[in-house]
Amino acid sequence: MPDDEYSDVLSVAERHTHDWLASIAERPIDAHAGVEEVKDALGRELADEGQDAAAVIDHLATAIEPGLIAMASPRFYGFVIGGTYPAALAADWLVSAWDQNTGSRTPTPGAAAVEELAAAWLVDLLGLPEGSGVGFVTGATMANLSCLLAARGSVLRAAGWDVEQDGLQGAPRVRFLAGDAVHSSMVVAGRMAGFGLPRTVGADAQGRIDVDGLAAALGEDDGPAIVALQAGDVHSGAFDDFTAAIAVAHAAGAWVHIDGAFGLWAGASPSLRHLVAGYEAADSWATDAHKTLNVPYDSGIAIVADEAAMAAALAIHAAYLPEVGTVAEPYDHTPELSRRARGIPVWATLRALGRRGVADLVDGLVASARGLADGFAATPGLEVLNDVVFTQVCVATEDDALTLALADRVRADGVAWASPSRWHDRAIVRFSVSNRGTDATAVDQTIGAVRSALAEVRDAAVPAPTE
Ligand SMILES: *Cc1c(COP(=O)(O)O)cnc(C)c1O
Repeated sequence: MPDDEYSDVLSVAERHTHDWLASIAERPIDAHAGVEEVKDALGRELADEGQDAAAVIDHLATAIEPGLIAMASPRFYGFVIGGTYPAALAADWLVSAWDQNTGSRTPTPGAAAVEELAAAWLVDLLGLPEGSGVGFVTGATMANLSCLLAARGSVLRAAGWDVEQDGLQGAPRVRFLAGDAVHSSMVVAGRMAGFGLPRTVGADAQGRIDVDGLAAALGEDDGPAIVALQAGDVHSGAFDDFTAAIAVAHAAGAWVHIDGAFGLWAGASPSLRHLVAGYEAADSWATDAHKTLNVPYDSGIAIVADEAAMAAALAIHAAYLPEVGTVAEPYDHTPELSRRARGIPVWATLRALGRRGVADLVDGLVASARGLADGFAATPGLEVLNDVVFTQVCVATEDDALTLALADRVRADGVAWASPSRWHDRAIVRFSVSNRGTDATAVDQTIGAVRSALAEVRDAAVPAPTE
């Protein structure tokens, strides 16, 4: 293939990439065109004739841009969304160019080498058991599911049932337990694994699982059980008491899984490590690289201490595939057979940051969250509702409608973007600090933007005087 088949279109893509990245810090964060407008700009009918690739990409980038949100802005606090490190983005481009199907290590030793190092580095950095199975999946939801499937096989095997061979129908019932603040991703993972909704056992005001409630629920029955704990409550950022909860669960023979989509990274920081004390005794962990680690979408990570349990649940066997031998294949650790080399941007980010850089990243996010919380707490009429132990800050005014108006106003002003939500039966605005660029300047600008938005919505809420 001639080189110039790619060069024009890639230089168009590169120019649009630079324009987009250069605009992120200053552009209004919210998208200013809706889905229908973007469809109109793209053209709705599939043409009979093709078009030159460079023209297609130029048209695509121009038409879509008004409909894009600056999620990588240092003042974007919606959902839990990371930014992108330069090394991560560049590695991700190369992953597409190399186009390696990374399901099996034999045909692509290079991709396997990078991913195996990334996996070992992650396990080491987070202080999890050496030799754990690691799967590079799309996100924490798939990581939660992958871990639950390993857990399901393991607890059923202990009960004398081979779910991998005989399926779930007719199997002993698997109890699936979680705290009341369990994330919806964990709930859907449990649904996909065939458990239905989790049995919730209580939680404290910050969302930490009620360990006594867990012990009582486990004590009701002695059948197979899986307990889902949480590192990083999506509203409060709180961490379960892993030492106590894992002891109780293991005493009852349960498998313990930890959903740490963004919070697991506390384990990589010496100053925050206390938040996850004892978590290494769990059986499996799910996290995202596309949140706290600031790797582009999509990048989730499933980790299972008992690698064989992971392989038993997920490995694919076929005559044409290399035999599962002593070294695990990538497809032993993910639900996919074919996939892109997601571990490569993870490797590049870890290498660019080093151990200290990852700790500084996580510490910096938490420092900025505290900075936001201090600024909000010092703002009359604004209340910080959670204990800010990690990256999440929930604020509210005295009135639900006013709080929602505040979220809308902040977003309309374009300087910052945060999620309206409900917590403890109150409307809140939730700020998640997950972007590496959220520094003290971004924090000050955000506090300023929230204060002026609050003044605007309070003015608008005052009934006009009648003559
Ligand atoms: C974001 C999140 C998830 C889901 O992660 P995805 O990458 O979106 O699949 C699960 N649990 C928690 C606590 C989260 O914050």
